[in-house]
Amino acid sequence: MLKCRDVPQHAEQLLAGDMTPGQRFSLRMHLLMCHHCRRYLRQLRVLMGALPQVAEDSTDEEVRRVLDRLDRQA
Ligand SMILES: [Zn+2]
Repeated sequence: MLKCRDVPQHAEQLLAGDMTPGQRFSLRMHLLMCHHCRRYLRQLRVLMGALPQVAEDSTDEEVRRVLDRLDRQA
């Protein structure tokens, strides 16, 4: 099971569009349980949004989709 200390690494991969389905599932499961990491990922996304050259559009959309889903389930 994914731990909080593993989330930053996975978040970077997520934003880079470089995650396997298994990694994405693990991250999503952790985010469902952990509001600290949800907030972390949201803030990271805002940060990356301020640096659009770092993240590709599709990656940004994917993060937003995940966060929207989490918000609906919260
Ligand atoms: Zn966590």
